[in-house]
Amino acid sequence: MTLFNLGSINVDKVYRVSHLPGPGETLAATGFQQGLGGKGANMSVAAARAAARITHIGAVGADGRWAVERMMEYGVDTRHIAVTETATGHAIICVDDAGENSIVLFPGANRIISDAMIGQALSQASPGDTLIMQNETNGQVTAARMARDLGLRVAYAAAPFEASAVQEVLGLIDLLVLNEVEATQLETETGSNLKDLGVSDIIVTLGSKGCRWLSDEGVMHFDAIPVTPVDTTGAGDTFTGYLVAGLDRKMPMAQAIGLATRAAALMVTRHGTADVIPDLKEIQDQTF
Ligand code: ATP
Repeated sequence: MTLFNLGSINVDKVYRVSHLPGPGETLAATGFQQGLGGKGANMSVAAARAAARITHIGAVGADGRWAVERMMEYGVDTRHIAVTETATGHAIICVDDAGENSIVLFPGANRIISDAMIGQALSQASPGDTLIMQNETNGQVTAARMARDLGLRVAYAAAPFEASAVQEVLGLIDLLVLNEVEATQLETETGSNLKDLGVSDIIVTLGSKGCRWLSDEGVMHFDAIPVTPVDTTGAGDTFTGYLVAGLDRKMPMAQAIGLATRAAALMVTRHGTADVIPDLKEIQDQTF
């Protein structure tokens, strides 16, 4: 089957600084690194590394062509990523000597995805395929409705958390993935327990404590794999990308969660985001 990911593509620009700049301050950075990022791109790369067939639906500016090429190299079908006149979404990330950071996020082209683009991409889908979405683009409700009409399964990662956006799509999704903080925010906003939201499968990720799967059958806990983390950035995206890839391969949920848990554990032992997401073989070769 095929996965379709309506997702963000960001360029992460990481500056090393002695301290975070204050108002009016100009500061020389001591280092600079640029990489592919964005929750959407991370999930597409993770799914491709998990050997799934994945088509990304998104948009960049001309300055982001390299990011699209990078995704293609990782095995993502990039034919439905538009190159627009708006700048590519990017994050300006300052990291100081103490590891503290400050981030400015410019959504750019991620927020100008047209309904026509979504429709064109999904016209290639077949019943049983899956649509994945997060909250860093526009168009989630349109995409979910179209996907439902076409007989697709809809998976949604409620991040970054935005109450109104999440509530709009709740009735249109089959699988919800969110972390502990987002789960609390959602319960507060809706005034109901997660299990009463009408979504058939919900996964709450708990960092080093693993995750919880809520379904009609009840609640099941899955432990994380004990590793020494060096950088947890992208752990959640790797987890979700692998999870949907496993489900797409018709794995039972518990087995797909097991695969996602192993991928995310390996990911937290590495510095970086999309460029270091492990592939299936690396996960199989791991002794944990
Ligand atoms: P992020 O926003 O950093 O990508 P998140 O908050 O969306 O992450 P987490 O709950 O932190 O998601 O992590 C997702 C999954 O990654 C967890 O369910 C777990 O399987 C794995 N994981 C995260 N941190 C660790 C860790 N320290 N050790 C082992 N596994 C981890």
